[in-house]
Amino acid sequence: PWPAITPGTIDTGFSARLYGPSQQGTIASVASQAFGGETLRRSVLFECSSVQYTYGEVIQRIKSLANGLKQAFGLKSEDVVALFSPNSIEYPIACHSVVGAGAIVAPTSAALTALELNAQLKTSRARFIVVHSSLFDTAQRAAKSTFIEKIILLDGSSPVNGQPTCEYIASTFAPAPLITIPSSEASKKIAFICFSSGTSGPSKGVITTHQNLTSNLQQWRAHMLETGSPSQRVQRKNAIAFLPFSHIYGLNLYMCQCLIWGTSVVVMPKFDLDTYLGCIQKYRPDELSLVPPIALMIVKDKSVDNYDLSSVKIIFSAAAPLTNELSSAVEAKFKTTWGTEVFCTQSWGLTETSPMATAVPNDRMDKRQSGVGCITNNMEFRFVDPDTMEDAAVNPDGTTQPAEIWCRGPNVTRGYYNNDEATNGAFHIDSDGKKWFRTGDIATIDREGYVTIQDRIKEMIKYKGLQVIPSELEGKLIDHPDVEDAGVVGVWVDERATELPLAFIVLNRQAKDRDLKTVIDGIHSWLNPKIANHKRLRGGILVIDQIPKSPSGKILRRQLKELLKSRKPKAQL
Ligand code: AMP
Repeated sequence: PWPAITPGTIDTGFSARLYGPSQQGTIASVASQAFGGETLRRSVLFECSSVQYTYGEVIQRIKSLANGLKQAFGLKSEDVVALFSPNSIEYPIACHSVVGAGAIVAPTSAALTALELNAQLKTSRARFIVVHSSLFDTAQRAAKSTFIEKIILLDGSSPVNGQPTCEYIASTFAPAPLITIPSSEASKKIAFICFSSGTSGPSKGVITTHQNLTSNLQQWRAHMLETGSPSQRVQRKNAIAFLPFSHIYGLNLYMCQCLIWGTSVVVMPKFDLDTYLGCIQKYRPDELSLVPPIALMIVKDKSVDNYDLSSVKIIFSAAAPLTNELSSAVEAKFKTTWGTEVFCTQSWGLTETSPMATAVPNDRMDKRQSGVGCITNNMEFRFVDPDTMEDAAVNPDGTTQPAEIWCRGPNVTRGYYNNDEATNGAFHIDSDGKKWFRTGDIATIDREGYVTIQDRIKEMIKYKGLQVIPSELEGKLIDHPDVEDAGVVGVWVDERATELPLAFIVLNRQAKDRDLKTVIDGIHSWLNPKIANHKRLRGGILVIDQIPKSPSGKILRRQLKELLKSRKPKAQL
């Protein structure tokens, strides 16, 4: 059974109380434990378009595929397998098989172009790529001049043009036990390489160990269940899975967390409001995990009234800021339309914290509009002025001045895969030898331990909760024949999009003589096929004379954002 957890309380020094026994086990042990009980074995774990797999079937498939990957392809411990697919019912099975075989999964966003995927394959040094058939061509192009030895199809039953499918492999091999490793090894053994830009620069592979994830599962559970008051305790019988499995939020929630709750996961390959609402009506989940743009749709879209959402008790938002206004509007919508009391709450975290680092405790729903909640168990935070590197001053009311969150805990990554430079830049080792991860988020914490996110000092832009990396777009833009220089920033419009990527560009002499609209349109149509859809410059392109830079050549993004106060961009959501 899962080790008991004592709920954490906030004490001085901005840390949550430690609990023992410490974070144990592998992801495989999570899976195996979840499949323990006979009743659960027979209940549905994953469902998609009327295909259903029970917990029992899933564990059999995982064990067979893990065995097949080892026997047929010589998959070894520490090998990296890239997974390139939209959400699908086969995705979690492939994922747990690879990790259960002792190897590493590098989940890559299904939105990537071949060029973008190629870069991530190189970063992760993946030996195999498991790909959904709809993305096969992209994967084949991306695999050129990488370490990929074999492309394996995620879906379908029999091999296609010599490419084996996961089901074919699983049906050819008998189930074999998944890995077990001593708990002392769990902190070292890598389970996933998840991609993030971190605070600056290009996309990097975040090392996510078995312990990072199993710790976060316990932290999440302690925050959301053990502390719950009986009236608001949710059963989590069904979850509607539209968040991408390739992002740590979806990966942790649907592929690990749900297994512990005994939840049935209804897999949505892509988000569509009507399908989502239809699923809520049909499967009656009591908790919705979402991102702010979806919360806004629930409030604003007229079609919502056509569905019965009365099963919902808790709405849990993460990945981007949820304002108190929107949270209140969501609750009011449920009250007036379905006569139900819903608590709308949010959490904060990063890919590097696997991901949940703060949340509102379930028994303190009265505090649900107090920022992003409290620090989770077993974590410590510092609030540090990024200019002076001193701890933030505390106001007379006990709230700190806004400062960067530094954090440490068992769920925090140990760094970026094969990238010592980025790893060293992301951490600060203090005089006591404590290693702190610098999050790039600016926040305050109040006397009771509630954290409010105020700003982001890192370069990352978040469009609908998805990362957009400015330096990547800048690198592409300066390749355009009309562009001399470029600086990309995020512009907040509203919760529909959260932030839109916007480019400031300097045009070269020839382009300046041409019609500006034609030049700008030309840049958009040149850039769009080269980048994933969510990275498009929806905030627009603005022409300036010079990109402001520091003496060391760093783009001064704050100054660019200041320019936006006088020049309103033409945004297209
Ligand atoms: P990712 O690594 O893609 O999960 O992105 C992490 C970043 O998303 C954080 O560093 C924050 O900037 C932002 N973020 C996540 N959750 C929240 C939230 N509740 N409020 C504000 N920003 C958030």
